[in-house]
Amino acid sequence: MLPAGEALQRLKDGNARYVQGESIHPCTEASARESLVDGQKPFAAILGCADSRAVPELAFDTSIGELFVVRVAGNVANPENNGSLEYAVAHLGVQLIVVLGHQNCGAVTAALQGYDGPGQIQSIVEAIAPAVDEAKDLDGDPLDNAIRSNARRVARLLEQQDPILSGAVESGELTVVPACYRLDSGQVEFLDP
Ligand SMILES: [Zn+2]
Repeated sequence: MLPAGEALQRLKDGNARYVQGESIHPCTEASARESLVDGQKPFAAILGCADSRAVPELAFDTSIGELFVVRVAGNVANPENNGSLEYAVAHLGVQLIVVLGHQNCGAVTAALQGYDGPGQIQSIVEAIAPAVDEAKDLDGDPLDNAIRSNARRVARLLEQQDPILSGAVESGELTVVPACYRLDSGQVEFLDP
């Protein structure tokens, strides 16, 4: 199990390599696959957006088996996502969860514009709406502010999930960090809570 501080540093180092164009992964060799057949030991978990441009394994220059990644439009907290992250923490020993929003997120844009349409897109928009509301009086770009606000809010929600995530936070075995990925530079900015 990698302590959260070391896991965070590993993500920062990997992102720096990616930004510099010096990635050493993805590792696609058969031996890497085969060595993981009997189990996985990811060093961090990511709750990221489904957006095809914001790919955690690439952004953090990681190989297979290193990141436990949950992706859904708008990187929202819902029972299935939370349950997946609970599994990573309780059964795989993950001590760091990064909630990874990103520049120009379509889901947050939809929430900001008050999207009202058919199907289940609405449920995602509704999950993001409180973050849009929290950000509405901030200075600066409304979309950037809402994206950051959403990542922070989802991180807080995860920390409050009883009993598994909240218990791990309480005992110092889990850190949840909000972050924002820039589509243009590839840089991940880790945010204050
Ligand atoms: Zn997005």
